[in-house]
Amino acid sequence: MNINKIQSKSIINKSNIPFSDLCINPYVGCMHSCKYCYAMYMAGYTDHSFEKWGSFVDIKENSIDLLKDYLKKNNLKGNIVIGSVTDAYQPIEKKEKITRQILEILLKEQRQLSIFNDDFKISIITKNELILRDIDLLKQFNNINIFISICTDDDKIAKIIEPLASSPTKRIKTLSILKENNIKCGALISPYLPFITDYDKLFSLLYDKIDFIFSEPINIDGSIKHFVLDMYENYLHINNILNTINDKKYWLNINKQFDSLCSKYKLTKLKNKRLEYI
Ligand code: SF4
Repeated sequence: MNINKIQSKSIINKSNIPFSDLCINPYVGCMHSCKYCYAMYMAGYTDHSFEKWGSFVDIKENSIDLLKDYLKKNNLKGNIVIGSVTDAYQPIEKKEKITRQILEILLKEQRQLSIFNDDFKISIITKNELILRDIDLLKQFNNINIFISICTDDDKIAKIIEPLASSPTKRIKTLSILKENNIKCGALISPYLPFITDYDKLFSLLYDKIDFIFSEPINIDGSIKHFVLDMYENYLHINNILNTINDKKYWLNINKQFDSLCSKYKLTKLKNKRLEYI
């Protein structure tokens, strides 16, 4: 693993995730190494054009100074997502504690702002149980949603396609603990992977531990297509997957199944392509 410390130009940026206005990414790259990762394009935007996704992480070591500077000049407003193109709780966070320090600063800001308004919200997207380390902080936010991303209940398959993320069993346990602590949380079945994702199984395991649920199909836009095909053919030994991925009828049925399971378990469904605050 190529791990570097870098001086970043910014820590809060405009977000391109629909439900959010701003994003915070404490790292560049992600050790979880998901073979379908939508954020792989980031390698090309940084100094890692020729490196394999999952083989490098840049630690933004000036994150805290940047955030303090930002807050001197700007009031926090809107929805802020932590971890839009990285996982803020990937294994390196255990030692670096950058995400934890970011939460401490945001919490301090919330306390100061709340005299006037509390018009900002935090979302965290993760596949790592390490988020539980910060439960003392998470509990203190007025508006926070934790999204645990999970596309299979099978620990063995997850080990192949998301090698360094926490196992699905641990992620489901994480949701239980968050729920016990009254922290609003949801599951992102994202992406839905044909022949791998089992909605029936996932819903039955998740329904009593979450407040909301979201799902979206596997993305094969642009260069990601090559990596998705590689995952199916060389790691999962499933061929001709494009026939299924490109089959509109297939997805209509998958959507119907999702809707009917949401009704069966009385779960709030986040609207297609959008994650909205409940
Ligand atoms: S955890 Fe998220 S950001 Fe990290 S490799 Fe997996 S999909 Fe990409």
